[in-house]
Amino acid sequence: KKYSKDEVLQKAKDLGVEFIHLQFTDIFGVMKSVAITIEQLEKALNGEITFDGSSIDGFVRIEESDMYLKPDPSTFVIFPWATQVKEARLICDVYDKDGKPFDGCPRNTLKRILKEAEEMGYTFNVGPECEFFLFHTDEKGNPSLVTHDNAGYFDLAPVDLGESARRDMVLTLKQMGFEIEASHHEVAPGQHEIDFKYDDALSAADNIMTFKMAVRIIAQQHGLHATFMPKPIYGISGSGMHTNMSLNDLQGNNVFYEENGKLQLSQEAYYFLGGILKHARAFAAITNPTINSYKRLVPGYEAPIYVAWSASNRSPLVRVPAKRGKSTRLELRNPDPSANPYLALAVVLKAGLDGIKNKIEPPKSVDSNIYNIGEEEKDKMGIESLPANLYEAVEELSQNDVIKAALGGHIYEKFAEAAKLEWNEYKARVTKWEIEKYLTKF
Ligand code: ADP
Ligand code: MG
Ligand code: MG
Ligand code: MG
Ligand code: MG
Repeated sequence: KKYSKDEVLQKAKDLGVEFIHLQFTDIFGVMKSVAITIEQLEKALNGEITFDGSSIDGFVRIEESDMYLKPDPSTFVIFPWATQVKEARLICDVYDKDGKPFDGCPRNTLKRILKEAEEMGYTFNVGPECEFFLFHTDEKGNPSLVTHDNAGYFDLAPVDLGESARRDMVLTLKQMGFEIEASHHEVAPGQHEIDFKYDDALSAADNIMTFKMAVRIIAQQHGLHATFMPKPIYGISGSGMHTNMSLNDLQGNNVFYEENGKLQLSQEAYYFLGGILKHARAFAAITNPTINSYKRLVPGYEAPIYVAWSASNRSPLVRVPAKRGKSTRLELRNPDPSANPYLALAVVLKAGLDGIKNKIEPPKSVDSNIYNIGEEEKDKMGIESLPANLYEAVEELSQNDVIKAALGGHIYEKFAEAAKLEWNEYKARVTKWEIEKYLTKF
């Protein structure tokens, strides 16, 4: 149930809530939080709580630091894990001191692109599949790379520690209003997936942030560390965040479904797909925003590398799952859970809308195993690769005005600057792999 402002006030009082966490997400996808007491809730709901924007990475300089938090009452949720006192949270938009939506706030960015969609007659539905690893923590509480699966072998803990943590996560998420569709062990040892039902994109992005927070907290209670790092261990699968997407018209009908269309997909679905494929190399910087993201996008682990689509094959960038009717959707497979969900959904939506606006036809589908097609043949077919690393991704983004405009100047600049810094820091490192390879050879 989604509450209004008055209902939140009433509900918080009735339930004896003592603390409310006002949450928002920075450019890099990190959740920030300001805690207030119940006495301040009304003031908060009126958007009168300020914070120092200069203290947040990538926000503003000290001279312009007064920022306002505008809570979205529909995001009111009680923290089921807070047992000492009742605690709740509200997700906020950030406004500047002149009362304008702050353009460094990713949630505002997504709202802006959702508005563009609405003006074209669409709402955007998103169902994410968040994968994560559960690792053991040592005596000091520091995370290791030991999973519960091989921990059983070392006799550190009962083998089903991860399973029971995941069960707890599902129960907690349900208490927080999530509709859980499935939860299962993934391919790699210690890797899990919990799927929740798709929702409008803004709720879906809020849900991803809430999901990650809840999963981390419950893991901790089980003596485990949950990580959404895309590729924590070389040689086994990384964690993705497949993003299932569809458009509805304003009456709530799925626009991608067309009974008599080719593959029962509508012209809009094909154009949306065309836009996604056209801009994929540029939005990768946002959907795969870390150095580590690109270590997942390698052959052999079901992660996409090539910009292609298929309705019959799981390896390409975009898959069209078999379900039709209300469930007609495109599954974008490159995003990973280190992405800022607000920005990731903003850029993929923008790419799809650009496809519809400019009637971008997608290339022919690639229904054979793309990894078995030779390089020359791929060139002939015009199949491109996703960027090989963060550096290439940011270069690609810098040349794409559609995706840059979706992010807005402020976020684009801050993001590109930070990514380049990170790249420069990384590229100068001497890795263990290099030592093993060269130390004795030369
Ligand atoms: P997979 O077969 O790739 O493992 P899952 O079953 O794990 O897929 O996840 C499918 C996701 O797609 C779920 O989050 C589901 O709610 C979502 N989904 C279903 N229908 C739609 C739709 N019309 N638009 C967007 N997402 C949808
Ligand atoms: Mg899945
Ligand atoms: Mg499934
Ligand atoms: Mg999976
Ligand atoms: Mg999937």
